[in-house]
Amino acid sequence: MTPPIVVWFKRDLRIVDHEPLSRAVGEGQLLPLYIVEPDYWARDYTSGRQWSFLKDSLISLDRELTALGQPLWILIGNAEEVFDHLHQKFQFCKIVSHQETGPGWTYERDLNVERWSRDHGVVWDEYRQHGVVRGLRERKDWSLQWDQLMCLPQFATPKKILGIGSPPKPASDVLQSFSVTDEISLSSQEGGRGNALLLLDSFLDDRCEAYRSGMSSPSTGEVVCSRISTHLSVGSLSVREVWQRTLDHRRNLKEETGRGIALRSLKSFQSRLHWHCHFIQKLESEPRLEFEELHRGFIGLRQGGSDPVEERFERFRSGTLGWPFVDACLRYLAATGWLNFRMRAMLVSIASYHLWVDWRKTGIQMARWFTDFEAGIHWSQIQMQSGTTGINANRMYSPIKQSEDQDPYGIFVKRWIPELKTVPLEWIHQPWRMPLSVQKKIGCRIGLDYPEPIGDPVQLAREARSRLKSWIDLHDMKPEAQRVLRAHGSRLRQARPRYGRKAPLSQMALDLE
Ligand SMILES: Cc1cc2nc3c(=O)[nH]c(=O)nc-3n(C[C@H](O)[C@H](O)[C@H](O)COP(=O)(O)OP(=O)(O)OC[C@H]3O[C@@H](n4cnc5c(N)ncnc54)[C@H](O)[C@@H]3O)c2cc1C
Repeated sequence: MTPPIVVWFKRDLRIVDHEPLSRAVGEGQLLPLYIVEPDYWARDYTSGRQWSFLKDSLISLDRELTALGQPLWILIGNAEEVFDHLHQKFQFCKIVSHQETGPGWTYERDLNVERWSRDHGVVWDEYRQHGVVRGLRERKDWSLQWDQLMCLPQFATPKKILGIGSPPKPASDVLQSFSVTDEISLSSQEGGRGNALLLLDSFLDDRCEAYRSGMSSPSTGEVVCSRISTHLSVGSLSVREVWQRTLDHRRNLKEETGRGIALRSLKSFQSRLHWHCHFIQKLESEPRLEFEELHRGFIGLRQGGSDPVEERFERFRSGTLGWPFVDACLRYLAATGWLNFRMRAMLVSIASYHLWVDWRKTGIQMARWFTDFEAGIHWSQIQMQSGTTGINANRMYSPIKQSEDQDPYGIFVKRWIPELKTVPLEWIHQPWRMPLSVQKKIGCRIGLDYPEPIGDPVQLAREARSRLKSWIDLHDMKPEAQRVLRAHGSRLRQARPRYGRKAPLSQMALDLE
């Protein structure tokens, strides 16, 4: 028997447009492998709901591989130990996989596997995963390369796999023997290729029509956004596959009259697929951004101080800030594992500015809530919404304005905060303004049935702005902003470093959204 090639599946749980699989299939016998790593699942950014979605996706991949003639081997353990064990059994000489841009933990693990491979004379070939470029230091030409990559043909889906035979235990048994138990286990989404395609089809055929108009509100966003992020994060869909399907659909729609709205929506959707890789690229190029402020001038900004940050954060975590719309978004996210982009941004902005909580703390909590946790997008966005990148406008969202704009009739608030069900519309955005007589009459007493607001949002925003101004006035921010821009700035828009000489504060563009 010739030694097999190990196809190591990581965040690419599909057989379609899968370069390592497609290349290895013509080279000999294959051992398709997934390693469940308990140490990863002990990290503070993981959760039971992410595990549950991953399990569905693995079962689905196993089914697809079995249909091609070789079931998936799922082994539990530390990656080097698993490879060691398989090496003793099969004496394989080659591993193929996609490159992975994950949290620091997966980066370290990959370094260990690389070392192990070298020590054992095993070649490990890693292929580019979607539009992210390994080793990139500057963004020049990145967008152009991304566009070209999306237009290239997809890698061929294998028709048959010559494999090494069944694993010691079927996938479902292995998966059942491992669990991630925590308080965050329910998700509104199920994994698996079939579910991914159903979502994509229903989005392209129907739901995309209202994408642009409905994406900003959490209640319409739930329906009109594609909801494919979780499938992209485990790789049951490839970004290129989605991009090409969307392009085909746009071409078909162009033939029909009166489809201008859907066409514009699909264009916006495609630009978000570009953002997907654009943000992951930031972590790939500068892995420290998971731990440290991207703009080094902001290191230490929110550390220390005597504010009751713990208490504020606890109210954020439990969705009891006393600002109904924000609490509704927090409770919705905690219950379902998903939230639309604008409201994710609002939550981080409120935690970082109004509550002055360190972005790492908020980021870990939100990562655990998200079923679609994708480290590259997540940490880049968390920093962007916390104002620590030095190249993006600092956005402070007003909890009241967002409530009035995105939930004008208080429907979302009442759905997620049953305590406020009886509150009349005129007070739903600021129930603390309700006269006591009304509170008694409707049976909703602020401070008893629903918390007092954590503070006056306008005053808290003012304090945050003044802290930022003092910080920026004391530090020389410009050279580092230019470095960040060169390394990470999008070349699509003419982004400019902030903090020019003329008007330092106005350039902070503290938009009150
Ligand atoms: C603080 C914060 C944290 C986030 N963390 C994550 C995360 O861990 N995982 C994740 O997938 N997305 C994250 N996002 C980006 C975005 O909110 C989600 O991708 C989107 O809401 C997922 O829903 P959807 O698939 O219906 O998106 P759609 O609007 O249908 O977009 C399609 C796809 O484009 C990509 N995309 C959309 N918006 C963005 C964006 N702003 N930046 C980068 N890619 C985008 C996603 O892959 C998404 O699935 C975060 C945003 C913020 C503000």
